[in-house]
Amino acid sequence: MRIERIQPFLVGRSLLVRVYTDEGIVGTGEAGLWAHHPTVYRAVEELSAYYLGKDPTRMEHHFQVVSRNTHFMGSVLSAAMSAMDIAMWDILGKAVNKPVHALLGGKVRDKVRVFANVFGATLDEFAESARQQVAKGFTSLRTTPMFRDFEKETPTKVIKDAVAIVGAIREAVGDEVDLGLEIHRNLTLNQAILLAQELAPYRILYYEDPLPPESIEAIAYIARHVDLPIAAGERSYNLQQFKTWIDSQAVAMVRPNLSLAGGFTQVKKIAALAEAAFVGVFPHLMGSPVNIAAYTQFAAATPNFVLMESFNADTHPLNAIVDRPLTLEGGYITVPEGPGIGLDIDESQLERFPYIEMGIRGNFAADGSVAH
Ligand SMILES: [Mg+2]
Repeated sequence: MRIERIQPFLVGRSLLVRVYTDEGIVGTGEAGLWAHHPTVYRAVEELSAYYLGKDPTRMEHHFQVVSRNTHFMGSVLSAAMSAMDIAMWDILGKAVNKPVHALLGGKVRDKVRVFANVFGATLDEFAESARQQVAKGFTSLRTTPMFRDFEKETPTKVIKDAVAIVGAIREAVGDEVDLGLEIHRNLTLNQAILLAQELAPYRILYYEDPLPPESIEAIAYIARHVDLPIAAGERSYNLQQFKTWIDSQAVAMVRPNLSLAGGFTQVKKIAALAEAAFVGVFPHLMGSPVNIAAYTQFAAATPNFVLMESFNADTHPLNAIVDRPLTLEGGYITVPEGPGIGLDIDESQLERFPYIEMGIRGNFAADGSVAH
């Protein structure tokens, strides 16, 4: 089997890559550098010169050749290679009529646990949003405990409000529902420590991305000074970066993005590194039903998988482009048994969803400086 054609598609907020073979099997992957899809689109076109004519079932070989060719790796190339890798695993699964999870060693679970996001503009709205998600069957919630325009407030008020938001959610849903906090790199190092110290009584499952990811040492410093488990790694894009996260004892959970950190071929190694250190895998999921399907395959076969985003798997607007949308029940996604990633896309539907640009807006403090 040979790769005959490679076509990227910008669809809604996603970048899909379709890989066509001379045997008529078509694989689909998705790239995860979601703020810069047009740049990755061009990278896919450039890398196609290598992949065309190659055997799509030699994923590891292709990763080694492309990533080590001139040693100019970065998130753009890694996202392009990740989409190619997912598409090639989809092709392999469809060629042998097996789901990807069967090719990764087989299912270690029958369904994949997902969390629901909790939002609000007031404490009552946060509480009501949390109650609604629990009523839908979710047992794991995540929130960013900050009000709109928090950047303009004093650090003292930001911390006070965050504690109040977490308290309101806990009061609304009780002490048995999981609650994780997504800080979105919004705090300074000292704020992250002060806030975490106040949140210790609220049974927080994880404290995600308190700081930007450039300094793993700084996040390891936070980890040594707080009593909350830290989750991080969604911007990291290779195996070596994840080794540093794990070795520095900064994280209780790593957040590899399957469509940024090297597809199934590399992220299964990241999961193994984490497994050896008793670190959980909490994959970072953005994107279309193609990515939800690929992540579900990965989660099904990964023993130290913890949790992932649901992204409204059953009602996602882009379910209109797939033949078998995923099903969501009681806070779990059912693992599909179809070949490859478990679904296929209808290219005739893609033009209904024009690309949505991200743009660059910035976030500013009260004095006009860039806040985060
Ligand atoms: Mg995050």
